[in-house]
This record gives sequence, structure tokens and C-alpha cells, in this order.
Amino acid sequence: MLPLIDAQEISALRYSVRGPVFTPADPGFDAEVAAFNLSTRHTPDVVVGALDADDVAVAVAWAAQRSLSISVQATGHGATNAIQGGLLISTRRMQELEIDPLEMTVRVGAGVQWKAVVDAAGPLGLMGLHGSTTDVGVVGYTLGGGLPVMGRKYGFASDHVIAFELVTADGTQQRVTAGGDPRLFSLLRGGKGNLGIVTAMEFKLFLLGEFYAGGIYYPGGHARDVLTAFKAWAQSLPAEVSASLAFLRLPDLEMVPEPLRGQFVMHLRFAHQGTEFEGAELLRPMRECAPIAMDSVRPLPYSEVDSIHQDPDQPVPVREGGFMMERLDDDAVEALLELLGPGVESPLLLAELRLMGGELSTRPAGGDCIGPRDAAFSFFGAGLAVPPFAEALPGEFARIREALAPFSTGGSFVNLHGHFGDAADRARAWTPEAYDRLVEAKASLDPQNLFRHGHVVEPAVV
Ligand SMILES: Cc1cc2nc3c(=O)[nH]c(=O)nc-3n(C[C@H](O)[C@H](O)[C@H](O)COP(=O)(O)OP(=O)(O)OC[C@H]3O[C@@H](n4cnc5c(N)ncnc54)[C@H](O)[C@@H]3O)c2cc1C
Repeated sequence: MLPLIDAQEISALRYSVRGPVFTPADPGFDAEVAAFNLSTRHTPDVVVGALDADDVAVAVAWAAQRSLSISVQATGHGATNAIQGGLLISTRRMQELEIDPLEMTVRVGAGVQWKAVVDAAGPLGLMGLHGSTTDVGVVGYTLGGGLPVMGRKYGFASDHVIAFELVTADGTQQRVTAGGDPRLFSLLRGGKGNLGIVTAMEFKLFLLGEFYAGGIYYPGGHARDVLTAFKAWAQSLPAEVSASLAFLRLPDLEMVPEPLRGQFVMHLRFAHQGTEFEGAELLRPMRECAPIAMDSVRPLPYSEVDSIHQDPDQPVPVREGGFMMERLDDDAVEALLELLGPGVESPLLLAELRLMGGELSTRPAGGDCIGPRDAAFSFFGAGLAVPPFAEALPGEFARIREALAPFSTGGSFVNLHGHFGDAADRARAWTPEAYDRLVEAKASLDPQNLFRHGHVVEPAVV
């Protein structure tokens, strides 16, 4: 049975933290729990808008004393499943951001979004390893491993973390580094929100250099030519190039530019760290494989990096699903065309094949928890969770997973797993060995299993 939180206990919490506290009866509660994914409505019993690490530690200790479950939200980009009951810690006010340009490192608070890092680091000629949209929170993304736009060249974002500042389930604060606590450090790289709340993080930045990037849209009727060309081309690419190919069924809405509005198109996303000449040469086979509806690949100011993938920048109701692929061969191409090609009715707005490999395959010294080091491609789908698509989406994801099972690794990447199901489904995001290590660490750090919301492991069986 859930413990009851009476008004006196809420008052005690209000007196102990500096940030605001909201119960469902308070104005501001709805705005505080709102997620980027509009299809998810979190309903915690109480929310703390933490201002700093002390607020987080005090709030965690308060919840632990009452055996209340604890969850955390920065942006709600990862709000695939709703949080029900307990304490939610909202980190959006924790906006500390400090760059050391000489050491090429940055320290961020738990609420910082990647766009703030891009804005601050870009003018210094530096960049961080963000993903397809810089709207995402740096900490939540990196705890999941963080699959960056330039991942094939530099690896996962968590490979380059220097320190995590962590509040564990008993409310204690600690700085976790590779030298100080190698076991815990490795578990935070890809272990997601299982072991506590990260209040700040320090990590390495990289030199920007020249950048040739953007997208090419092809009419969907040429999906076979484009996918066949992509299959061969992707295998030939150096690590300096990141690429993905998406089947897009664009809605008939004003936000979609006119030539693409209401259309089924193939969207190649391309990013090359290097000169325009080299980039254009590398891209040539894909510029010649089929007629092009729109081509935006060019020397790209880094501040426009979100234009490569064109992910939504406003909250949307979505349902997502993803898994890793071991290969993209002729049979996989046929299967994909049967599932998503021209003439097929699919409720998926987007189905993306993202090329893995390069440095993404190299596990960092000290180890980590990232599952899909050996995958060839990531498959990620998303559909609008509104009628008439909403009802069809769970079945569509199941159908696609089953049809592509022969080409899949069987695993997923925790950040791109999407809506999760039972323990077996959640476990797909980690190797069995990493999963067991997480369960063991959770049993000692969080014996009450307070951090049980979100994409987490099961508690140890005792
Ligand atoms: C449009 C879009 C594009 C994306 N592109 C990519 C991509 O290219 N590469 C990639 O790797 N991922 C990508 N993602 C997934 C994204 O990285 C995850 O959803 C990530 O969890 C978002 O973190 P957040 O803090 O913004 O989200 P939130 O919903 O606020 O948090 C999600 C989860 O992260 C954990 N978390 C957040 N903050 C903390 C904290 N301070 N301490 C402990 N745990 C915490 C918790 O488990 C929480 O439930 C994308 C998501 C979207 C919606």
C-alpha cells in the first residue's frame, strides 16, 4: 500500500528545500510535471523543483524516510511511460554551465539542455557529443549512453564523462570518477536512472573544425533505389561520417514545408566533420542514386546542427519503439520495403536506420553498461499518439520487430528503446552481464528500490 503523505509532511518538505514544492492541488503542478512527450501525463504525489544538489539530497532523504518512490525529470523527452505516485524531482532549474576552454571540458547542472552547451561551446570552437536534437537534457541523455550525431568518430557521450555528481537513495552526495569508484562510474555510463540522481556532470568537449552536413529528401516512390544504395554506401563510410536514413510519412500540416507536406519521403541525414570537397565526394553516390526532392547538405554552421535530423522542437504526443540491427543485407532491404515501402499504410511518422560502427564499437577503458556496442544499425520508429494512429502503433511496433527479428541483435539501446514493457522487455537494453551488475549495485545502493520509475532493472530477488 502507498504511504499517505499528509499536509504536515508536505510542509516539512517545503521547509527543508529552497525550490518550490507542488502537490496536485497546487497551481503550477501541471506545468511542473508536463513532459515533452504530450502523450504521457505524470501523476506523482508531490514534485520538488530542485534548485541545487542540496535540494535533491534533502528531497531524496525525505522520500526515503517515508519509503516513497523517487523519479526525476529534466525535459520529458524520455517520458515514454507515465510516472505514477511518489516524489518527482524536477531538475529544470539546475542550469549551471561552466566551460574550461583550455582543458576543453564542461560542467553542467542536471537541468541543462544540449542547446545551451552548443551555444556556449560553439563560439569557442568546441562541441559536445549531443544527439539528433539539442533540445534533449544533457544528463538524462548521457546516463543512457548518449548516441551522438558524431558518434562514429568519437564514440558514445558517456565514454567522455569525467565525473558524475550523484545523490543515492539514502540522500548522500558523492562525486563519482573513474579513479575514485571505478565500479559505480562504469555503471553510470549507460545505466540510466537506476542508481540515483545525477545533480551535475563534467565531460570532455571536442574541436569543431569544418562541418559539411544536412539532409536529402527523395520522393518515397524511389524508396527501393535509395535503400539499396544506402545499404552499400553506408558500409564504405569512414568514421568521420555519420548517416541515417528515415522513412517519413509527413503530416499535412503547416509546420511541414510545402513540397514535403502530406508526402511519403525518404530522408537521408548526413554529417561529415571535414571539408566541403571531401564531404561532397563521400556523399556523391547518394546524390546520384535517385531523383532528389530537396537537398540541404552544405557547409553547416554548427549552431544549425539540429537541421540535420529535423526532429520536432515543440512538444508532441508520440509513441516510440526501437531495437538494434546486426546487419542490413538484401533480405533486410526487402523486409523493410514490405513493412514501410511505397503503397504500404503505416501509422509510423518516422522509421529511421542509423548507422553505428566506428568508435561506437569501442568500449572505453574501465568499461560501461552500453548494450549495443556491436550493432550495425539502430532502428527507431515514432508515430503520433493521436487518433487514428494511436491505437495502431503498439501493433505496428510488434509487427516490425517480429518481421525484422532475423536481422536484429535482439537488444535495444536504452535511450532509443521507446515505450517499455515488462522486465524482460526492459532488460533488452543491456547485455545480461551489465544487467546483473546493475541489479547487484541497485540492491546495495537502493535496497528499497525507490528509483523504480522509468527504464530500470528489476530489484534483486532475496
Ligand atoms: C526527438 C528526440 C530525439 C532523440 N535523439 C537521441 C539521440 O540522437 N541519441 C540518444 O542517445 N538519445 C536520443 N533521444 C533520447 C533521449 O536521449 C532520452 O529520451 C533521454 O532520456 C532524454 O533525457 P531528458 O533528461 O531530456 O528526458 P527526461 O524525460 O527528463 O528524463 C528521462 C529519463 O532520464 C533519466 N534522468 C534524467 N535526468 C536524470 C538525472 N538528473 N539523474 C538520473 N537520471 C536522470 C531518468 O531515468 C528519466 O526518467 C532522443 C529523444 C527525442 C524525444
